[in-house]
Amino acid sequence: MRILLVEDDALLGDALQAGLKQAGHAVDWVRDGVSAETALAAEEYAAAVLDLGLPRKDGIDVLRGLRARKRSLPVLILTARDTVDDRIRGLDAGADDYLVKPFDLGELNARLRALLRRAGGQPAPVLAASGITLDPATRAVSCAGKTVELSAREYALLLALMQQPGRALSRAQLEQHLYAWGEEIGSNAVEVYIHHLRRKLGADAIRTLRGIGYVVAKDSPP
Ligand code: CA
Repeated sequence: MRILLVEDDALLGDALQAGLKQAGHAVDWVRDGVSAETALAAEEYAAAVLDLGLPRKDGIDVLRGLRARKRSLPVLILTARDTVDDRIRGLDAGADDYLVKPFDLGELNARLRALLRRAGGQPAPVLAASGITLDPATRAVSCAGKTVELSAREYALLLALMQQPGRALSRAQLEQHLYAWGEEIGSNAVEVYIHHLRRKLGADAIRTLRGIGYVVAKDSPP
């Protein structure tokens, strides 16, 4: 998923960017509050990881502005200020969760998975649709009971579709999920990944809706 990372500390930001990428996300990293607002206005993010103490504009003000514009993406705040007041202010300003520095990268990724589940209306930790199961915690994918090996981009594309089964995503929307700033997008990259996924998961796993995009069918209720 496409994640916005807002962190002014170079070392921590670097580690966070690497850890989020490792978890399969496309990550845009900005280092101050004004750049965060610009990024949020320009891109559709699945979630944001937001430091509170930032140059140019405080994280709390970025968050308040975001919610004032009725943007509902999940926001996880990071704070070094280990006071109850800061956490309460953050949650009341519209944060969905928080972590106090220093924190464990594994916990950050687990909290993000939980936020993305809720945002996608998918309460179960393992996603299942169209005969496919996908576990975001382990990145294990199986089809008809058999484990399937996917590349990082194939996985990211399938995850985007499986988080909202029954909903079609256009090529542009899928590109947004797959690529951070500065990453080269091949002109038919999405089509190529879809082709690979169909070869591995079966021709019917992902349907094409002409002129609209791609969809993973919802499982019909038992
Ligand atoms: Ca900071």
